Amino acid sequence: MSTPVFAPALYYDVTARDNNPECRNFDTTWDVNPFYSNDGVHCYVQCGICHQNMEILTAVLLDPQPEVS
Ligand SMILES: [Zn+2]
Repeated sequence: MSTPVFAPALYYDVTARDNNPECRNFDTTWDVNPFYSNDGVHCYVQCGICHQNMEILTAVLLDPQPEVS
């Protein structure tokens, strides 16, 4: 499975899965929207329970980009 590629400083609709078997979120897929790509490299979705980075499954560029003040 290939990791989605992010362009910097854009918002995406992301799905991510918790792969930590110790966590009660294990094997749960989360939808994160909007997800900000930061510099396009450091793109992580962290589990709120176990604080491990989830595996990012899909990333769809939001079009149009959300208005952020
Ligand atoms: Zn977790």
